[in-house]
Amino acid sequence: SENATFEQIGDILRRHESFVILSHVRPDGDAIGSQIALGFALEAAGKRVRLINEDGLPDNLTFLPGSHRIEVPPADPVDAEVAIALDTATKPRLGDATLHAASGADIWINIDHHISNPRYGDINLIDSTSPATGQILYDLITALDLPFPDETRDAIYVAVSTDTGSFQYPNTTAKTYEMGADLIRRGLDVGKINELTYDSHPFRRVELMRALLNTLQLSDNGIVAHWDLRDDTRRKLALFPEDSEGLIDIIRAIRGVQVAVFFEELPDGKIRVSMRSKDRAIDVCKIALEFGGGGHALAAGIRMAGPLEDAKPKVLAAIHRAVEASARS
Ligand code: 5GP
Ligand code: MN
Ligand code: MN
Repeated sequence: SENATFEQIGDILRRHESFVILSHVRPDGDAIGSQIALGFALEAAGKRVRLINEDGLPDNLTFLPGSHRIEVPPADPVDAEVAIALDTATKPRLGDATLHAASGADIWINIDHHISNPRYGDINLIDSTSPATGQILYDLITALDLPFPDETRDAIYVAVSTDTGSFQYPNTTAKTYEMGADLIRRGLDVGKINELTYDSHPFRRVELMRALLNTLQLSDNGIVAHWDLRDDTRRKLALFPEDSEGLIDIIRAIRGVQVAVFFEELPDGKIRVSMRSKDRAIDVCKIALEFGGGGHALAAGIRMAGPLEDAKPKVLAAIHRAVEASARS
């Protein structure tokens, strides 16, 4: 189905009173930030709102005003007419318990910026040119003239900042900076929010960095860098799932590296793969799709069967094939 217009979405928002707002498992700043941003705007407009995430609120985002409203899915379906999935590339990535909690909704709205999103909503707004779902919501909320409380302001900033690597990745547009300027005019404290987002890490995250650096491998041609996190390291350092968020940027930043890969053994034995590319000709979303994952051309991920010894060579071989294909074209 085609993208809905802001007005069509506005009609649905106006005509209904109760909403359940969702985002993907292992939520990042864009997922949680988007839920808070839209949730508080709708609540300020007089609506009833629940914010549900399969894995709850990660520790590194508790500083966000309004984040206490993020709940893990209750056992019974919530009373909501409309479900809104944010920043979630496929419906199963919402999680089983979350899907059950939202199962009473009559209408599904799907707002996202993943190019691989199959448009699973009744109403879809998928903009793969937007660097973050938070930026789509900024456009929506301002276009519809919805209330813009401080929680919405701060949450949108963090959503967009975390998905653009602090306004650095090539997905950052002039509109992104104009939006940033507007958020500052609305009273956002840039220094404070950046300190809370980027300069307030628990010590164990730096210990994780040390452990990861010990596993770092660079391909002979210097184009692919990867490292891995084993379950024993996770247990030894008592890591939280979000502790590894963004660390892949350290190896992405190596001169000459075009693709960075992070392999992570999950407690359930599955392997999580994170990939970053510096070159659109090496589309890591395409590689992720080969293994049932997804994402964007320059940032994508997979959850696949283990063990690590099997997953790693398969994914690395696919990456090297993509690197060679891009060199030939
Ligand atoms: P990250 O590497 O930061 O976890 O994810 C990078 C991008 O890929 C994100 O936009 C994320 O939504 C997407 N992604 C990560 N893991 C998966 C996955 O297992 N399946 C799908 N479909 N997308 C993923
Ligand atoms: Mn996300
Ligand atoms: Mn996102």
